[in-house]
Amino acid sequence: MKIYDKFYINGAWVEPVGRGTIDATCASTEEVVTRIPEGVKEDADRAVAAARAAFDSWSQTPVAERAEILEKIAAGMEARRNDVALAIATEVGMPLKMANMIQASLPIGAAKTYAEMLKTYQFEEQVGTSLVVREAIGVVAAITPWNFPINQIMLKVAPALAAGCTVVLKPSEVAPSTAFILAEVLHEVGLPPGVFNLVTGYGPVVGEVLAAHPEVDMVSFTGSTRAGRRVAEVAAQTVKRVALELGGKSPHVILEDADLEKAVKAGVNECYLNSGQACIAPSRMLVPESRYEEAVKFAKDAAETFTVGDPIAGNVKLGPVISAIQRERIRNLIKKGVEEGARLVTGGADAPEGLDKGFYVKPTVFADVNNDMTIAREEIFGPVLAIIPFKDEADAVRIANDTIYGLGGNVWAGTKEHGIEVAKKIRTGQISVNGGRYNPLAPFGGYKQSGLGREAGKFGLEEFLEVKSLQL
Ligand code: NAD
Repeated sequence: MKIYDKFYINGAWVEPVGRGTIDATCASTEEVVTRIPEGVKEDADRAVAAARAAFDSWSQTPVAERAEILEKIAAGMEARRNDVALAIATEVGMPLKMANMIQASLPIGAAKTYAEMLKTYQFEEQVGTSLVVREAIGVVAAITPWNFPINQIMLKVAPALAAGCTVVLKPSEVAPSTAFILAEVLHEVGLPPGVFNLVTGYGPVVGEVLAAHPEVDMVSFTGSTRAGRRVAEVAAQTVKRVALELGGKSPHVILEDADLEKAVKAGVNECYLNSGQACIAPSRMLVPESRYEEAVKFAKDAAETFTVGDPIAGNVKLGPVISAIQRERIRNLIKKGVEEGARLVTGGADAPEGLDKGFYVKPTVFADVNNDMTIAREEIFGPVLAIIPFKDEADAVRIANDTIYGLGGNVWAGTKEHGIEVAKKIRTGQISVNGGRYNPLAPFGGYKQSGLGREAGKFGLEEFLEVKSLQL
């Protein structure tokens, strides 16, 4: 078992004030594999004080110096790539090779992107007779989830540091190891004391202290819509900036003229990525009535290629989900799908064959789903796909938009132009057309109850900047 018993505050590993600990489990063995301190208010206060004290000097460092540090961070994370991948395969359950390719690579890319961006980004511009200056917003509290743990951290820490902000990070207590790896890297690269601080603990305790803290200028939160609402509520008392990256129920719209087999396969693959534990998982597949049974057959075939098992030793496509609580929740939602009249095409609520231990869920496909059913409305966060028929394009758009969420989505069409036309009618922060790939320079974020603000690229940097007008 890996035991982390200190917080990283003001450039040093310090003894927590809180005496409690929190255990994180291995998703495939259910054993405790990581132990972290359970922080209390005083720990959070101490981290904020360190970040506050470091802000004046860090925000005034030459931009080139910050770029250099970010390059070193990218190199440091590259050196720890295997540790990151193994920690995520263990705690989260994503198959190791995939974790290495995706989860360990994305944060390296993010640090490099911001190092590069700082070389050309214009912090000042002349607007008429005014000089408009973009300045670091101040102390940032970053609160992050477990599903892509280090990616979600780096999408905040890298642009915040690039902007000249100082940071207090409260990572998810469910998959915490990669946050400690990052702190070790940041220490090695010689980040000045107080610029980055790490405290762990429970959301309603440490998270809320940070969100409410008068010395925190911005809270950047990624997680569930439920917790995001609470963060915004608590933060409102001090009128700080709030950035929220929340949940989703993304549509995968396959139009009449699309290559059906390719589109269905792509949808299943994306829906099951990380065992369905992705905020943009396209968990609602919208298919024309005229091609419905064909699509269901393709989806069944695609789902049944997903071998389930040990994410570390096994050569599998699908690992377990994160925890016993999540496994139960997903299985109950599968049962609910059956109760509400959806047709179970493959998978189901029982444990997969021979996998009684570990938080495994069968890759599941439901057909004959209507958009009012619970499995079409709730973010399941498991490998569960709902296939919904539509009559015509207008009906597809209506169903796609009939959700409280607005995070992501896909459109598959016969031509890119047709895809773009429909994509523009869907109310989400990002949408891919005919398999267009994730672009780390493009803004990422949600419409409606999927969030506030954007991460990644230039938009992600600007989240951490204030704008000042000098009238000349
Ligand atoms: P969660 O909301 O349970 O926890 C996220 C973080 O918030 C954790 O660090 C947790 O300790 C903290 N937290 C919980 N309650 C809090 C409170 N009252 N005040 C302050 N902090 C609190 O989410 P999770 O289960 O870790 O992650 C899964 C969720 O994250 C899903 O809904 C998923 O869609 C979402 N997510 C969104 C994005 C995005 O970019 N939009 C990316 C990844 C995950």
